[in-house]
Amino acid sequence: MRCTFIGVGSAFDETQTNTSLFIEAGGNSLLLDCGFNAAHNFVKLAENPHKLDSVWISHFHGDHFFGIPFLLGYLASVGRVDELAICGPHGIQEKVCLLVNLAYPNLLSRLPFKIVFYVFSEHDNQIVAGFDLSTCIIDHSEYALAVRVQSEGRSLFYSGDGKLVESCMSLAQHADFAVLEAYKFKDSIKGHSSVISCLKFVDVAKISRVALVHLEPFMRTCKLAEVAEAAKLFTSFKVILPEENQYVDI
Ligand SMILES: [Zn+2]
Repeated sequence: MRCTFIGVGSAFDETQTNTSLFIEAGGNSLLLDCGFNAAHNFVKLAENPHKLDSVWISHFHGDHFFGIPFLLGYLASVGRVDELAICGPHGIQEKVCLLVNLAYPNLLSRLPFKIVFYVFSEHDNQIVAGFDLSTCIIDHSEYALAVRVQSEGRSLFYSGDGKLVESCMSLAQHADFAVLEAYKFKDSIKGHSSVISCLKFVDVAKISRVALVHLEPFMRTCKLAEVAEAAKLFTSFKVILPEENQYVDI
């Protein structure tokens, strides 16, 4: 399984692409979140963006799903015909259609390919485009789901956006890789996690590698050394502070 960081930024960081991961395994592909500017970068970075099989939307904030109109328009413009799976919480079909219809009122009726929507609730499990997807709720200002992605015996836990709660611990246990939102350094604010709470979470969940993403702009520009120092206190797992276009083989 390969995880390419399309973006690692938070909502309003003008220097970064919104957090988005491109997962490839067993000939299948999955885009985890597709925010304002993530679809543009996905199309630029991926070798065959027109062959994307599926998209996961963790929740309905713009930095996690407002790239969908561009993505669908791009796929239509290059003549894609294979169906596309779009997964997310309850309301995924209604929200995506509302968004796309606002952007381009005629686009959905003219798509040369079919969209199949998969609705997920918390504690759900479904196979989508060859990926085994399991979910749990995460504490955020909008209803949001974290997801565990499994394929070919490998596993990745992606928190999406939010403060890690007990159900996340159960789902993330022994994952091969975790990608966690770490907006603040130490003190989690309501609906968000922090570097320190993520590191403690990974330690208890016995995850072997973690990437911290979605850092607030000040942390990314001024506190990375402090983050690296904190990571050194934990020796049972490896911590990555990825840049966009970096990939990790899991
Ligand atoms: Zn959010």
